[in-house]
Amino acid sequence: MVDRTKCIACGGCVAICPVGAIKIVEGKAKIDPKKCVRCGGCMNFCPMTAIDINKQDPDENPNRKKK
Ligand code: SF4
Ligand code: SF4
Repeated sequence: MVDRTKCIACGGCVAICPVGAIKIVEGKAKIDPKKCVRCGGCMNFCPMTAIDINKQDPDENPNRKKK
């Protein structure tokens, strides 16, 4: 998930994602969990450490909760 309070919409994660899973929505990065392959690239890149791919936005995909 992306911490919307930290993201500055630099766009770096969008550019780095190999599967195009990230978009800037309303001025913040948003990961499409259906596309994300969990490579970790965005998380390592983000200058604001706004991304944690091990956490999922509850509102992003309620039917695919992590066990
Ligand atoms: S790299 Fe980080 S700060 Fe930049 S758009 Fe992505 S989540 Fe936001
Ligand atoms: S962890 Fe997911 S969203 Fe992030 S760069 Fe990799 S595939 Fe894209």
